[in-house]
Amino acid sequence: MGIIIQQVSKNFGDFQALREINLDVKDGTLVALLGPSGSGKSTLLRTIAGLEQPDRGSIWINGQDTTYLDVRDRNIGFVFQHYALFKHLTVRQNIAFGLEIRKTPPKLVKEKTEELLGLIQLEGLGNRYPNQLSGGQRQRVALARALAVSPQVLLLDEPFGALDAKVRKELRAWLRRLHQEVHVTSVFVTHDQEEAMEVADYIVVMNEGKIEQVGTPTEIYDHPATPFVMSFVGEVN
Ligand code: ADP
Ligand code: MG
Repeated sequence: MGIIIQQVSKNFGDFQALREINLDVKDGTLVALLGPSGSGKSTLLRTIAGLEQPDRGSIWINGQDTTYLDVRDRNIGFVFQHYALFKHLTVRQNIAFGLEIRKTPPKLVKEKTEELLGLIQLEGLGNRYPNQLSGGQRQRVALARALAVSPQVLLLDEPFGALDAKVRKELRAWLRRLHQEVHVTSVFVTHDQEEAMEVADYIVVMNEGKIEQVGTPTEIYDHPATPFVMSFVGEVN
């Protein structure tokens, strides 16, 4: 169970975006892909999602080979930096959307939606429209919407990147708490080492399409395995 990535490579023309990536994401853990801009984090995430196909290698999700499975046949929740909510739908309707297109019985939709509103601590704001929310509140709704359909995997690409420092800090703590409740296997992309340290069970440090090191935040911080990790993790933002 979880995600198994074996020998995955991906080129764009002559450019090698991913070079023989091997990675196990254990079931129910939250893993951060950490690295500088251009290191291949988003490409790896998009490959897990099925939005890109690898040139070589394979990807298994919960025991199924999904390497060539269409994105629509996977059950994956996404939260991207600019993955907008539906503007003409309320918070409640946004969260319920995925359940409704799956023809979920109305009673279940209602239960699940209220449960998620509680989890993201926006109980009182269910009837608001996205433009009546702060940026941080919108990303909480985006997360609830992604979780509504009980995805096998949750993929987050710099979800807090557009928010200011104080809100980012709040959302980190809050994502951590949410993950402790939901326990969905999650991959979180960030170029911010502090964010990775605070949010993730395991950190995967990437550089130039390769994995430099995988470890717990403490292992990475205390025992950087390569000169790159040492300089990248040692940097102060
Ligand atoms: P990161 O998310 O770590 O910033 P990306 O995975 O987005 O990095 O990109 C890795 C490299 O691959 C970058 O040099 C980027 O320009 C290149 N790249 C990504 N997507 C494409 C694409 N669709 N076509 C060509 N080059 C791409
Ligand atoms: Mg990226």
